[in-house]
Amino acid sequence: MDPKKKKIAIVGAGIAGLSAAYNFQSLANVEVKLFEKAKSLPDTGLGFLIMSNGMETFAKMGIEKELKANGNVINNFISVDNNSRVLIESELDNCLAISRSNCIQAVCDQLNPENIHFNKEITKYSDVPGSNQKTLHFSDGSTYTADILIGADGLGSKLRKKLYPEHKINIVKEKEIVGFAHHPELFKKIGNSLFKLDNPKKGLNLGLLPTLDGQILWYMQFNEDKITKPENTPESLEKFCKEAVLGMPIEFQEVISHSDFQKAYLWAMADVKILPSFHKDGVLLIGDAAHPVLAFTSQGVNSALEDSYLLSNLLADNPDSEIIEIFEKFDSIRRPIIAKTLHGGRLLLDKFLNHDNRDNIYLPFVDQKFSFSK
Ligand SMILES: Cc1cc2nc3c(=O)[nH]c(=O)nc-3n(C[C@H](O)[C@H](O)[C@H](O)COP(=O)(O)OP(=O)(O)OC[C@H]3O[C@@H](n4cnc5c(N)ncnc54)[C@H](O)[C@@H]3O)c2cc1C
Repeated sequence: MDPKKKKIAIVGAGIAGLSAAYNFQSLANVEVKLFEKAKSLPDTGLGFLIMSNGMETFAKMGIEKELKANGNVINNFISVDNNSRVLIESELDNCLAISRSNCIQAVCDQLNPENIHFNKEITKYSDVPGSNQKTLHFSDGSTYTADILIGADGLGSKLRKKLYPEHKINIVKEKEIVGFAHHPELFKKIGNSLFKLDNPKKGLNLGLLPTLDGQILWYMQFNEDKITKPENTPESLEKFCKEAVLGMPIEFQEVISHSDFQKAYLWAMADVKILPSFHKDGVLLIGDAAHPVLAFTSQGVNSALEDSYLLSNLLADNPDSEIIEIFEKFDSIRRPIIAKTLHGGRLLLDKFLNHDNRDNIYLPFVDQKFSFSK
């Protein structure tokens, strides 16, 4: 390797880590290694809505076409009540519904395979005396020494726990069950819409997102204060969802009856105070490792993409800067944006949990184009 190149180690091959590795691999002044604890790209997880800020980032990365080939463009949001009366209809701009596995595979396909290492669970890292380097220690006993360490190890981030052991994750009262249904007919009918049932009185929403090839991703949100949560087993989730959709418009009943509950799961939503800084002791956190956001914002994947794109631009534009200066710039740009997203997510959560007036139906995301108080 060229000794003038900086060695970057990224921990975690989710969207944050993969997109960072992809962005860094074209930079002349760095060598990138991505370490993932799983044996291969996980096919677990269901999917999400990539919002316009995420799609714009993919476009800047030059891989928007690859993403679009693996998902379904969403250009409309419709919210209805139990009687199929439309509560809100709103155009959406440049959004894509995609399964998580298709999304991460599409990014991974662009990576030089030599840059990604599976089966590499980082257990700890240590400082190299007399330098800014860090040595990563893996569960198989091997090590790797890097000039720059990026933590992209998700919600339960080990790196964040080491840097900020006091920082707590709060589980909120909104719970979400997520699943997939295969229903080509309904897929066609819903087309390019995010179609949602809002029942604020009951504290229950059900959103339908057609992703690809007749698959519909759905998410059922409920208020734990109003509805007792089921066990996280396929049988219990199926029973719960089937009872919950009774009386709902036919589309929602059909989705639930065509779902494979072996793959559905119950999420406990986390709300986390913003970190004092996204970097500490020469380590930078990105994506969920730095700032988990509430699902209401639809910004988890999008903000991870924005993080990694900004970081690679800062590295490209400031080749002679000390890494700490680049981390500082990153933090000063990203933290105010993330703070707004977190605030917007909490407003949506509060509407969901504490206001059962139908005037309080909201758009199910936070982005620059829509007011947080809608
Ligand atoms: C399995 C899974 C399924 C998901 N499913 C959905 C979904 O259906 N819908 C949705 O909206 N969001 C889902 N998410 C969350 C969503 O992917 C993230 O909110 C968003 O994409 C930001 O991604 P991230 O890269 O920051 O974190 P993540 O996507 O969480 O990725 C973190 C990665 O780090 C790896 N990792 C963790 N610890 C270590 C370690 N010690 N050493 C090496 N590697 C490590 C993990 O295996 C994982 O691949 C899922 C996340 C995961 C991990």
